[in-house]
Amino acid sequence: MTDRLHYKPDASFRRFLAMSVRGERAAIELMKAYGHAFAFSDFGAGSTEVSKDARKKRQRKADLICKSCGQKLEVRAKSRPQITMSDSASRPFDRELSAGDWVGFLVVQRKSDPNGEEFDETNPDHYEQVGAIHVIRVSELAEKRQQLPEPRRKNEAQGSEAYLEWPSLRAPMTGTVKTIERNPGRIVITDGTRDREVRIEPGWYAYGGLRVGSVVVRGQTILCGWAKPLTVTQLQCGQLRARIAGN
Ligand SMILES: [Zn+2]
Repeated sequence: MTDRLHYKPDASFRRFLAMSVRGERAAIELMKAYGHAFAFSDFGAGSTEVSKDARKKRQRKADLICKSCGQKLEVRAKSRPQITMSDSASRPFDRELSAGDWVGFLVVQRKSDPNGEEFDETNPDHYEQVGAIHVIRVSELAEKRQQLPEPRRKNEAQGSEAYLEWPSLRAPMTGTVKTIERNPGRIVITDGTRDREVRIEPGWYAYGGLRVGSVVVRGQTILCGWAKPLTVTQLQCGQLRARIAGN
């Protein structure tokens, strides 16, 4: 009985799986821009097939691995832009993953017109990925986790997993970035007629390669956050970098 509590109810698990697969496929495409050739590392990954065996179900590993540089990437597809991960005493996120692994956070939403068909929440093709992918190293998440407030608990039916959230700040309006300043940190967004200033806490990092001229969407674009995302340079495929250096 107690064991059952660790499993997500089937319907919500299937939805989670469909969103995950959509997110993973999107991540493979998005990471090509940095020279990576990510592919599913595991049998069963990339598929929405649900094993009847509850133990195997839990073992589904969604890692992607780059065929060129060997980097591992775990994808977290969210319905809202946020930096969150499940964590529990029996499955701490930073013990399931290695310190050097990457976690990619992206948003996956249901399509308004899912290919002219009726929306099926278990079909990955009925979802679309929107916005940027934010990639953070496991070691960075683990380090900042020490300073997070006591985590919220998911409801009992989903087990007593903690839901860790690394604070982030979303754009308060849609527009373009007009100013970015440090010490004290502030970002000014304009929609052409009015400006909106956002104060940045000390020690927070800009997300998504944010710079003057970047287009941001209200509630959708993460402007900055507490956990440091990888820079464009750090995101480059190691193999590619080595090749360029050798030429
Ligand atoms: Zn690579």
